Amino acid sequence: MKISDRINKVPPYLFFEISKKIKAKEAEGKNILDFGIGDPDIPTPDFILQKLIQESSNPVNHRYPESNGMIELRTTIAKWYKKRFGVNLNPENEVIGLIGGKEGIGHAALAFLDPGDIALIPDPHYPVYSRGTWFAGAECHFMPLKEENKFLPDLEAIPSDILKKAKIMWINYPNNPTGAIAGMDFFNNVIEFGIKHDIAILHDAAYSEITYDGYRAPSIMQIPNSKEIAIEFHSLSKAYNMTGWRVGSAVGNKDLISAITTIKSNLDSGIPQAIQHMAIEALESDDSVISNNIEIYKTRRDRLISALELIGLEIKTPKAGLYLWAKVPHRYDSASFTELLLEKLDIVVTPGNGYGDNGEGYIRLSLTIPDKDIEKAIERLESFKLNI
Ligand SMILES: *Cc1c(COP(=O)(O)O)cnc(C)c1O
Repeated sequence: MKISDRINKVPPYLFFEISKKIKAKEAEGKNILDFGIGDPDIPTPDFILQKLIQESSNPVNHRYPESNGMIELRTTIAKWYKKRFGVNLNPENEVIGLIGGKEGIGHAALAFLDPGDIALIPDPHYPVYSRGTWFAGAECHFMPLKEENKFLPDLEAIPSDILKKAKIMWINYPNNPTGAIAGMDFFNNVIEFGIKHDIAILHDAAYSEITYDGYRAPSIMQIPNSKEIAIEFHSLSKAYNMTGWRVGSAVGNKDLISAITTIKSNLDSGIPQAIQHMAIEALESDDSVISNNIEIYKTRRDRLISALELIGLEIKTPKAGLYLWAKVPHRYDSASFTELLLEKLDIVVTPGNGYGDNGEGYIRLSLTIPDKDIEKAIERLESFKLNI
């Protein structure tokens, strides 16, 4: 039997290839320091785990959950939005619980795109935007994110024939992988643009809570007419060290939320209820978990930037997110520099071009590795006489 074209045509998932290389190196007895995937090393806080233990013994939670999340979870998400952004949401139809942001982002493509449609996607980007689009049989039009434009897409540069076929636009700030941030003026332009061209705006705000140096990220839902055309995705993964539990949300335009619900209710049965209770516990807590994490990541960020600058990399200090986006020395490209770090120093980073053609010339380093490994990496970098 021949596997479907959508499987055969999709490029392998970036981290899958990298993890194969790591395994091979480890089999040789090497101590690999992995700055690849962004997956918090800090455990899920105990008070959140206690909630799971408590709720897991309640038989109510042993049965199928609702695909869009319990009303208690959706109400908590709406309250969190009110408190955090001053945004009002109706938990009945403007909020949905997701099995992690990734699930919702992937399923959104099936909800909004038909074959022949176009999705506007930033380049570089979180790979799920393009993979979801291809799985839905639609096409990607990539919007370059250039350093000289502060890694914001140039909306005016999108050709008019593309705009006619475009149904959705993905944006993501604070941005993975570039670490860029966006202000309300940009969000305002995007919402106006979406309304004018009838293109749904899908904002992925997975990193809105991981911000540094006094910066607070806005929500696109703060734009007054955003609900006409936009939804925003969130995740508890990064903010609460909960990647393994799989819980996130989307909020905003009720027709878009309803379409995702239709896909989900036919393909999955929602977030396990005990885990929904964990999410409620996390979202109702004070911000101390997040502020502790931010302190840890900020120290790592600053230590690592100094070490990388020493070997000749150019890095802008990110105000948000979990990544350093570093320009490789001019004699190298993303792949050759990634290879060099792996071969000479046993350090794994992700090549920027793995996130799209415009990521060429960069590498991405994640801040989610333990302090002692960060220190080891810094030692290796400092002792390494790079000939650049
Ligand atoms: C991590 C991440 C997500 C969501 O992660 P989940 O664990 O699936 O909730 C979404 N978007 C971006 C850009 C991410 O980096």
